[in-house]
Amino acid sequence: MSNILPFSRPTIDEATIAAVADVLRSGWITSGPKAQEFERRLSAYFGGRPVRTFNSGTCTMEIALRIAGIGAGDEVITTPISWVATANVILEVGATPVFADIDPVTRNIDLNKLEAAITPRTKAVIPVYLAGKPVDIDRLYAIAAKHKLRVVEDAAQAIGSSWKGKPIGSFGGSLGDFVSFSFQANKNITTCEGGCLVLNNEEEAKLAEKYRLQGVTRSGVDGIDVDVLGGKYNMTDVAAAIGLGQFAQLEAITAQRRKLARHYFKILGKDFETQTGAQLPPEDYESTNWHLFQIVLPERITRAEFMTRMKEYDILVGYHYAPIHLFTLYRKLGFKEGMFPVAEHVGKQIVSLPMFYAMNEGDVERTCMAMREVLAVPSNPR
Ligand SMILES: *Cc1c(COP(=O)(O)O)cnc(C)c1O
Repeated sequence: MSNILPFSRPTIDEATIAAVADVLRSGWITSGPKAQEFERRLSAYFGGRPVRTFNSGTCTMEIALRIAGIGAGDEVITTPISWVATANVILEVGATPVFADIDPVTRNIDLNKLEAAITPRTKAVIPVYLAGKPVDIDRLYAIAAKHKLRVVEDAAQAIGSSWKGKPIGSFGGSLGDFVSFSFQANKNITTCEGGCLVLNNEEEAKLAEKYRLQGVTRSGVDGIDVDVLGGKYNMTDVAAAIGLGQFAQLEAITAQRRKLARHYFKILGKDFETQTGAQLPPEDYESTNWHLFQIVLPERITRAEFMTRMKEYDILVGYHYAPIHLFTLYRKLGFKEGMFPVAEHVGKQIVSLPMFYAMNEGDVERTCMAMREVLAVPSNPR
């Protein structure tokens, strides 16, 4: 076994591998009973709200925007610190992306700045729960209600996270709208690639099904019709079988990640920030699922140097994310340096330390020791 510690690694148990083999032998390998069963399980978890599965998290957000009727001439506000998919879907539907800077503590969109960015053309907001940490859901939906905005929650990283004791995605009515999850390989539960969308009612769910499969709708006794332009976004039963096996472990996965996060804080110690100048994430064992354990490095070391030095200890550090507005595609739309200073600072110095289900406390200790040497501070007297 190699001694290399990655920042993330999926764990697929033997029962899940056997379930996948069963699907492969069954003669029905694309979307079918397993995908439907996965949707039923997810719906029960999300308080009975309608849920549909897809072949990525990205397409769920694009489809949510289409269901909401958002397109050319509409503005959609999001955060510059996310995977680029979050902003790309706004362009995909022909709408205009607008960014609001982030909060330096949570690293999520700053809701004051979000509210300040609203114009008469704003139709929707896409908040991202970075590392699984939700924004203030009460405040978010109060702003949305006041300005009559649709919300597409980019909860790609937030399955297992909660707000006031209830799962993210399970709020309907005044505290819920579209909620999008990803099951990409590095996410807390995975289907290799995939995602799901929590919707508000059966009418939206029917539309989601149409956008998921070429706009096909049933019409007449056994005929079909096509009345909207859809794509090819369905989840296979092979993927759904993996998802069912992963979903059965969600509680254990979330608990283990919270335990590992607690151990990071314990081993790094109370003085870590003042000793090193690095910034830890908010210490939270309630709402976040600890999808990532991210620190913002002090200015005296570059992210590239930190990553290279950690690699000398066989520890692979991740990077989530480069500010979206500084990518060439977005610069061409007029975005530039200096527009979102908090995002630019965080985006330059943020790193993701190893955090995954199969990791143990020894791995956390090894990472902390290496980090103390790389950041050249005396080891924690404990
Ligand atoms: C993973 C991720 C996505 C995209 O999900 P895919 O399933 O890869 O399409 C979008 N937003 C965030 C914040 C993510 O972490």
